[in-house]
Amino acid sequence: MTASPPGPRKRQPRSVHIASGVRRLTLALPYLPGHVHCYLLADSDGWIAVDTGCGNASGRTAWTDELTERGPLRTVFLTHFHHDHAGGARYLSELTAAPVTRSAIDFREAHNQWLKFAPANEVRRWLGRHGVPKETSDCARQFMRRHIVSEPPGNPVHVGADDHIGDWEALPAPGHTDGQLLLLRDGMLLSADHLLNRPDIPMWPNRNGDPVGAWLASLREISRRDIQIALPSHGAPVARPAAFARQLADEEEARLRMLADRLRPQPQTAYDLIEAGRRSDAGLPCETNHVKRVLALAHALARLERLVMLGVAVRYDDEELVMYGRAWAHRLSNMSETRRRKSRPSSNRRAERPC
Ligand SMILES: [Zn+2]
Repeated sequence: MTASPPGPRKRQPRSVHIASGVRRLTLALPYLPGHVHCYLLADSDGWIAVDTGCGNASGRTAWTDELTERGPLRTVFLTHFHHDHAGGARYLSELTAAPVTRSAIDFREAHNQWLKFAPANEVRRWLGRHGVPKETSDCARQFMRRHIVSEPPGNPVHVGADDHIGDWEALPAPGHTDGQLLLLRDGMLLSADHLLNRPDIPMWPNRNGDPVGAWLASLREISRRDIQIALPSHGAPVARPAAFARQLADEEEARLRMLADRLRPQPQTAYDLIEAGRRSDAGLPCETNHVKRVLALAHALARLERLVMLGVAVRYDDEELVMYGRAWAHRLSNMSETRRRKSRPSSNRRAERPC
């Protein structure tokens, strides 16, 4: 029996109509949450792509098929630099000759976080100062290095507040990253990673010192706007964004109170804090386990820094370790009231692990 040779591959545009001039292209991701929504916005003489996916083979095929059907792409707009949003920017820009547009803060942040931080072996040092064991930081570093976004070609056009992308208003929304930009038009918000059911507000090196505070402030801004629907980069559309933003802010305040309650008079590292409250990860693949721990650390650090800003927690840092303690204990022990302290506390941090 002879097999007939395969015919030419059938192109399969996959975007769905969302509203007049707005289409959504959902691409698979090889890591959680398993998908990312990109958007196509009709412009006067072509389309604006909002985010690109991670740039893997299936995503590149999807974009090629989509644009063959849809017509010319004029702009590649990036809400922020994370791999699942910006990893395909180089491919898409080279495929279409469309310029890459993003916020200037995002451009700097990408350089500071990825290009300076990861190759210089700083990840292990930074994680180690927060109490993360070497095995976990090595494993997480490998994962992170695979997800660094190389800079798209050409000169990205930078945009900021009060700028427009086509007829969409660019809306700064710091929190998930410092330079995240959303797009707003006629009550419809492309909300990127700002309004997610499971908020992702991490602290990484070289970023704004209070990302949770920045996120809460921009949630308040969203709740004041007349927005009827938000289209996120992951998950389902949000029908009443103002109410959802208020709900997210309330839930975050509750998480901050819970974390404040867990702070001890004796300082401990953020890693010790999260390990004390962690469920067993038995059965998880090794890398997933370690990456989950590091992400939990980044979220805990963002909240701890918020508590430091509020005067509830005190950060002790020196060359070796960064630790956090309850502020009132700091006062009781007659130490300085300043939020930073250069010398390391004399207590034994391992002996302080809660039961
Ligand atoms: Zn992101």
